Amino acid sequence: MPIPKSPPSPPLPRKPLSPETDVLTKGFDPRLSVGSARPAVFRSSTYVFSSPEAAERAFDLMGGRGQVQEGESVDLVYSRFNHPNAEIVEDHLVPLEPGAAAAAIFNSGMAAIITSLLAVLKPGDTVVYTTPIYGATQTFINDFLEGFGIGHIAVSAGQGDDMDTAIREAVNLRVVLIETPANPTIVMTDIRRAVETVAALAAKSPSNGRAGFDRPLVMVDNTFMGPAFQHPMALGADVSLYSATKYLGGYSDIIGGVALTRDLALMKKIRSKRSLFGNILQPDECWILDTRLSTVLLRMNRQSKNAQRIAESLAGHSKISKVYYPTLFEDAGQRSIAQAQCDYPGGIVSIDLKGGKPAAFDFLRHLRLARNAVSLGGVETLACHPRTTTHSAWTARELEAAGVGEGLVRISAGIENWRDLLHDMEQALDQVAEGY
Ligand SMILES: *Cc1c(COP(=O)(O)O)cnc(C)c1O
Repeated sequence: MPIPKSPPSPPLPRKPLSPETDVLTKGFDPRLSVGSARPAVFRSSTYVFSSPEAAERAFDLMGGRGQVQEGESVDLVYSRFNHPNAEIVEDHLVPLEPGAAAAAIFNSGMAAIITSLLAVLKPGDTVVYTTPIYGATQTFINDFLEGFGIGHIAVSAGQGDDMDTAIREAVNLRVVLIETPANPTIVMTDIRRAVETVAALAAKSPSNGRAGFDRPLVMVDNTFMGPAFQHPMALGADVSLYSATKYLGGYSDIIGGVALTRDLALMKKIRSKRSLFGNILQPDECWILDTRLSTVLLRMNRQSKNAQRIAESLAGHSKISKVYYPTLFEDAGQRSIAQAQCDYPGGIVSIDLKGGKPAAFDFLRHLRLARNAVSLGGVETLACHPRTTTHSAWTARELEAAGVGEGLVRISAGIENWRDLLHDMEQALDQVAEGY
């Protein structure tokens, strides 16, 4: 690889370093950017080979005709396959996700999800997935994959027994895709339990138990809690997926996605599909995202603190029937999942207004600081009404089953002063008309 994995002298201490240190000290060699302290943007579609032999070698490796040798430096070829800014941001993503050995960057979260699924699925396989799941993910599984003869079983978020049954009964189970916590009701699904059920199944069934990624894989859409608060691979999951548009990007100004895994053979498959589909993130966006990674843990910590203070202050408000937030979980099962799998409660709060849709609209209309927009994870606070926006394609039955009420408003806490945000929300609640 042209970007050395280890930085130049002086060597760093041997002791494993923390993610917030690694993200600033690994994965970028200033000598390859004419000494600049920050990476250059390599805005080139193609790369000049050091020799015809090096070109031949690069193509042999790309075509799977050989293995990269220890210490071997391979020429870059063409930016649809790989480019320096993708390598730099990928090398910075790996330490942020404990247990990951490699990352692949994509031009959207959907590209990361779809490419990872298509890297392993074939006709006749089945996908088990949690619901509610991100709308486009659901459409992809239900409409697109089904059209290619790939089956699916939906399991309600947080229903561990149903998840176990689905895993055991699925025909040719290949992927368990978990999105946790569920959007917008913050219901949590137990990642470790699903991992253990899959492992038990793989151990029992020789056809599934062969080496590598022939066994069913557990993939987790970690967009809502990661990389700061939830570590799917430390819980045994095979793949962690992100919409980098959200917390990783952090400023609501780029679209991107990431897939991470500890399994290098699986990563090779994902990358080869990415080369085929052409959905790698462009150099400029990789550079932007890379600058954001050094602050993602700081931002998310602040966002979680803000969200927790807002959630706990609004709980019991006379115009709110329920606040959805991990520190307010009443269900013992949910509380224990949150405790076991999340370091902090996270930056998303949902509130259910007693006055239903008119009350929710009044609330949104009167917010002065928080902005009425979909998406989440940015430094600015955003609020939306899922039932008429992000979840508007759902049937009434699906909405009821998932608990997405008429009065539900999802809030993504930013990094503003939490008291200012709380006052803003309280004054907006004051202006919600009585008697809806
Ligand atoms: C936003 C989002 C996606 C899709 O990501 P894009 O970057 O918009 O493609 C997938 N999953 C979750 C949980 C999301 O919030």
